[in-house]
This record gives sequence, structure tokens and C-alpha cells, in this order.
Amino acid sequence: MIAGCKTPPATSSRSRTCSPCSSRLARWLPSRIGRTRNLGNAAPTGVNERYGDSTITHGWYDSEPRFSFDCMAYYKDLTRYEYSNDPFKRAGELYNVGWLERCASYPKGAIDPDMTAKLLALCKFPVNRYMGWHGCHFCSECPLRITDSEGEFCLGDGEIRVPAKDERVTYVAPNLIYHYVVTHEYLPPDVFLDSLRALSVPNPAVVWILEWIEGFQNQPPILSHLLDWIVRRDKPSLPAELRGSVLEAANELKVAVGSDAQEQAENIVNRLKSLLTKR
Ligand SMILES: [Zn+2]
Repeated sequence: MIAGCKTPPATSSRSRTCSPCSSRLARWLPSRIGRTRNLGNAAPTGVNERYGDSTITHGWYDSEPRFSFDCMAYYKDLTRYEYSNDPFKRAGELYNVGWLERCASYPKGAIDPDMTAKLLALCKFPVNRYMGWHGCHFCSECPLRITDSEGEFCLGDGEIRVPAKDERVTYVAPNLIYHYVVTHEYLPPDVFLDSLRALSVPNPAVVWILEWIEGFQNQPPILSHLLDWIVRRDKPSLPAELRGSVLEAANELKVAVGSDAQEQAENIVNRLKSLLTKR
């Protein structure tokens, strides 16, 4: 973790670095075989790279730019989300918003301060966190840091997800979207802004726990560690009325052993999930 960044443990096997910070992140990253080739706009097919036990396929700039190189990504607004390979994180009707690069123009305009504040609340505590940072393609700072009344945060290490008002689709944006809007005048699509306007921002600590349950419910020691970690955090802060239950689940998962350990863990996790989702 970079000193000064309030970044939680990454939960994605996909790693992203940018040159200014890659050396400091080296200990976080799985061994990388080969390097991303900078192929500009011309290549017609794809290239696979191994990141630990994961393979990442980089697409090309073609008639419909989808993915670029040197640790940067572009997806046209309102195209289908495809960044994550994780079936859980790709489940449902997901659409891209705010995946900007300098290779493509984007709409500009101003949004209401209330909306900017909501974006900030979401972007400070992203989901689907990566094991590195994606820098702003229009600036040189990486990781990109912001400061508010809660302290300093780094952007570029995860996503925000905003469900539509009817919840039939969800919009997925990199948490750099806050910076794009505030600094580079990016104007997100109306459907996204309408959804954001209607959104009641969830408690980020609860969101993280639900994400961890999906990712680590079959690995009780890891889940136990994460639950214990979030209880002790003040940013984001778990609601006081949930702290006891989450800590209890962490302790129970820690001692779940024996032939029925997995069954014990499932019961603990289901109980906790039920508690968190009925709020
Ligand atoms: Zn920038």
C-alpha cells in the first residue's frame, strides 16, 4: 500500500499499475510474464497476458475502441461492461460509464453539486478494487489523490456501481469518474445522472462486506480477517449497531474447523448476509 493512501485490500486478481507507482506496488503484484505492448491504434486482434493465475486479453482500437494499452482502459459510454472477468462482478445488465482515455473525445458539461457530492461518496470507497492504480489519462499524477473532510483518498483503484431507478440495469464507472467530472468537465449520460440522483448511497463498509462474502465465502480465514479489519476501520465506518454482529461472525469464522467447517462457515455467512441486506 502506498503511504498515505487509504486503500483497502484489493479483491480483484486483475492488476493495474502505472509507471510512477509500479515499483512501490511491486510487492502487491503477482509475477508478470511478458509486458504489455504499446501497439497504438492499428493492431487487428488481441494479446493474452498472464497475471499470476489469470489471463487478461487486451483488445484493440478498431471501429469500436474497447481497451487500450499501457495500463489504461477506454470503453464507450453505455456499452456492455466487460472489464472484470469475475462472473459475480459481471453478473446482470451492466453498462459502462466514464471509462475515459485521451484517444476518444467525451461530452463536456457541468453537473449539480449535489450529484458531485454523491459521486465523491461512492468513489472514495470503490468496489471491485484492483491491485494497483489506474492513472488519469489527462494528468500525470498516479495514484490520483483527493482530500475532503475525511482525509486523503486515492482514485483509480476500483469501480462504482449505480443501479438504474428501475434496477433493471446497473451503470459501472471507474472511481476516477469523480476526477473526470470535477477536473475535466466530463458529462456522464443522462440515464446515469438520473440514476445517481435517485440513489440512496449505501454504507460503503456494508457494501464491502457483501462483496467480500461473495468473493471469500469459501475461504473462512480470509473472510474472518477482512471482517475483523473493517470493524476496526473508521473510514469507512461500519454502523455501530452492526459492529457486534460482524465481529462475532469474524470470530466464529476464525474457529470454524473440523469436517463440517465449510457448513459452519456457510451458516455464519448466510446469517450475516441476511442481517446486512435487510437494512
Ligand atoms: Zn486528470
